[in-house]
Amino acid sequence: VVEVIGVDVGGTKIAVGIVDVDTGAVRSVERSPTAPWRGGQAVLRNVTALVGEVSADRSVGIGVSLPELVDQRGNVLSDVTVDWTSADLQRALGSSGPVILASDVRAAALAEARFGAGDDLASFVYLSVGTGVSSTFVLDGKPWPGVNGCAVVAASGGRSLTCPDCGLKFDEVPENIASGAGVSSAYGRRTGRNGVDTREVLQRAGLGDTDAQAAIAAGGHELGAIAARIVDLLDPQALVVGGGLGLAQGLYREAFESSLRSHIWADCARNVPVLDSRVGELAPLIGAALYFDDARRDGDLTARGQLEDL
Ligand SMILES: [Zn+2]
Repeated sequence: VVEVIGVDVGGTKIAVGIVDVDTGAVRSVERSPTAPWRGGQAVLRNVTALVGEVSADRSVGIGVSLPELVDQRGNVLSDVTVDWTSADLQRALGSSGPVILASDVRAAALAEARFGAGDDLASFVYLSVGTGVSSTFVLDGKPWPGVNGCAVVAASGGRSLTCPDCGLKFDEVPENIASGAGVSSAYGRRTGRNGVDTREVLQRAGLGDTDAQAAIAAGGHELGAIAARIVDLLDPQALVVGGGLGLAQGLYREAFESSLRSHIWADCARNVPVLDSRVGELAPLIGAALYFDDARRDGDLTARGQLEDL
């Protein structure tokens, strides 16, 4: 049995566990809140403490997933949630073993490809829809990182439309409409009640709150428009959807799927299956451990620059 410590640093919580990389089984899971506003160093101390708690004699190393842009060598290229460099992490965790960093959505997609909804798919697009939206294309079991490691942000860029007749301009960021944060803030704009979390907006919609229903339907519709452009580009075998909002059945999913199918251009791709992710909330943690183990087996650890700075 090869065991790797998996770490998932999310915007809300940190989870650490020991992963059997041959089966995807996880044991000794420990969690704590991320509270990223405390600063990267405070979060890093929590991560180090959690890794210390689960530390297994048999583990061969550590894989860490982050909700940031991470290149193929494991260098962190953004600081949206935590302001770390890979060297910071290696200094903090190096005494527990070699460390590799991975993008959380690619890590989740890798776990899904190996042990979940993608295990029999030659290609799929993984969409993570929670507080934010992120995306990865997986081909032959491997998430496509892009040349710079940045192929995870299909919904995050701004889009401007100008009416050719009257010149009216409309600027939007699709993620700010389709995500949980977007649904929550749309509900706030409609009702004046700000800070109602996505789960509660979903509950209110189920109880007949028409503002909640409209915010959710608009989010699902926008996700469908985003996903349709991805399908037009890649024509994948399936879409695999994860994340809390992505897995919420009902209005969001219905609006998403109907918008997806109406926005896809080619009839031959219109019925692309939409599958629920199966690995669950530990997917980024499991996938980070898989990234570590794949690099170890390939003899890539030093080639990727992961050990050179220790
Ligand atoms: Zn106009």
